[in-house]
Amino acid sequence: MFARPQWVILLLLVVAGLVWWRAPGGERQLVRTALIMGTLVELKVFGTNEDELERATAAAFAEMRRVEALLTSYRPESEISRLSRAAGPFIVSEETAALLQRGQLLARQTGGAFDLTLGQLKQVWGIESDRPLVPSQAELQAALTAIGPEALQIEGRSVSKRSAELQVELGGIAKGYAVDRVLEMLRQAGVTSAAVNAGGDIGLLGAKQGQPWRIAIQHPRKTGELLTVLPLVNRAVVTSGDYERYFERNGIRYHHIFDPRTGSPARGCQSVTVVAADAATADALATAAFVLGPQQGLRLLERLPEVEGLLVGRDGGIFQTSGLQREEP
Ligand code: ADP
Ligand code: MG
Repeated sequence: MFARPQWVILLLLVVAGLVWWRAPGGERQLVRTALIMGTLVELKVFGTNEDELERATAAAFAEMRRVEALLTSYRPESEISRLSRAAGPFIVSEETAALLQRGQLLARQTGGAFDLTLGQLKQVWGIESDRPLVPSQAELQAALTAIGPEALQIEGRSVSKRSAELQVELGGIAKGYAVDRVLEMLRQAGVTSAAVNAGGDIGLLGAKQGQPWRIAIQHPRKTGELLTVLPLVNRAVVTSGDYERYFERNGIRYHHIFDPRTGSPARGCQSVTVVAADAATADALATAAFVLGPQQGLRLLERLPEVEGLLVGRDGGIFQTSGLQREEP
């Protein structure tokens, strides 16, 4: 009796219905990667129209390259490099002025642990060059002279440095800012679910197929082991650690997050993960809490609204803010 045509038609209708139901709108995931800001950037987007997703990811990567060209201190023609060379007041774009203002606000909120004026320190340590070195005390003192948040004044688009030598360095916030811009481009393109990971600076748009994104946080010492998993929706999560870019001399690890009080790499933490509403804030706060060390860093993150954090101290002790939601890996 199954051979009767009406049954065959009914069966076909049921199968067609099931296929249609299984793919409501046919949502797909597109993953694209690119090398930008010296790091591998991974972009994951969900949507129904593959062509639109391709266009949106291409525009997002282009935006990230634009931000890099504007803010990097590795290219002599970037706005930040020209500002660093300027002797007198220097006019920057609205965008750069706004980001410098945000950096200055974060400098105040963190008691100067986050500091945009540390460019010379990076140079004397050669920390991201092929030949990093431990500078002499005299060199360190010279690089620390006349730096600090108060050495940078921003009025409208006009930026003044207290000394011509002052080197502005946005390395502690630029990647987070670029991640925020990526999410904004995707939002404008109509994307409602996406994740961008720029070497540990992660921005999340919406949820992942109706569930929170599950963000795995790496253990700073045990390679391949996870510290925890954070379930997150519409958040940014940024990790600063001493384990990605560093060199060792006489058993001491030197890395690229500087304590503005000493001019040397901060010693209190192995890693700091910060969750915040936007990646620029999370990026700067992760750097600042790393500088402050686990106790003071924890107090800072606890005090700020809409901010959570997880800190690993120099001896491996784990500290977390009271509102942090975590899952076992
Ligand atoms: P990553 O680049 O690995 O994401 P961070 O976000 O912590 O790490 O940024 C480190 C960069 O921030 C350094 O390369 C330097 O440019 C800058 N930086 C280092 N120390 C400080 C500090 N105390 N305040 C602000 N920026 C800093
Ligand atoms: Mg940072």
